[in-house]
Amino acid sequence: MSNTDFALAVEDLTVSFDGFKAIDNLTLYIDKNELRVIIGPNGAGKTTLLDLICGKTKASGGSIKFKNEELTQLDEHIRVRRGIGRKFQTPSIYENLSVFQNLEVSYPTGRSVFGALGFKCTDEVKARVQVVAEEIGLADTLEKEAGLLSHGQKQWLEIGMLLMQDPELLMLDEPIAGMSARERELTADLLKRICKNRSVIVIEHDMEFVKQIAHKVTVMHQGKILAEGSMATVQADPKVIDVYLGH
Ligand code: ADP
Ligand code: MG
Repeated sequence: MSNTDFALAVEDLTVSFDGFKAIDNLTLYIDKNELRVIIGPNGAGKTTLLDLICGKTKASGGSIKFKNEELTQLDEHIRVRRGIGRKFQTPSIYENLSVFQNLEVSYPTGRSVFGALGFKCTDEVKARVQVVAEEIGLADTLEKEAGLLSHGQKQWLEIGMLLMQDPELLMLDEPIAGMSARERELTADLLKRICKNRSVIVIEHDMEFVKQIAHKVTVMHQGKILAEGSMATVQADPKVIDVYLGH
């Protein structure tokens, strides 16, 4: 397989903050339609890696290619347009708007949240909202004010807002933090559904959850990749047990 066949090719990526290498010469390849889980101890550089891919943080060195296009010099909003979606740890939904409106304003037509309310929504947008609402399990909740949703539903809504843009790479940072057991199960199902049409990178701590969703797991430590492979392979790796799973 040549590098051009990957959805995402990260090569020799480095970022230093005042001389401290939070990401240290890291190389990582993600396939099309792959669901990759990244685990590792606190401070390993997991969130920083997503910051570098989405463009929130600029790399000090190395390469990030998305569908074979170099991203490192592109601004964050351009990367969004290229098809990269990123969910941060804290949900950022519009609490006073309905679920429908939250999804509607996320449709990529460049409209502001205020502008969108004054417009009659087109059939195309409505149809897309319906598809996404079903995908995230909120189709029966479209008229509800987003602020009244459960914590888990708010997380799904934010994933839905990203799905409105139909990203080819979706990155989620600890999506099940604070969720109930049932919400975790539903989130696992959701992730398995959405990776059928796109690549997904998930950072997660909860090993039960990782076992449910993971095909391939990358273990990070001190800005580097410590191990990579199936859940069974990394769980049995003495290096991984030593720095992460043994604690
Ligand atoms: P993880 O998500 O794996 O817990 P992070 O990526 O948040 O780890 O952090 C990795 C390391 O980089 C930590 O030591 C953190 O303090 C440091 N770091 C992250 N972002 C910055 C920044 N903007 N400036 C300085 N140090 C940072
Ligand atoms: Mg983090």
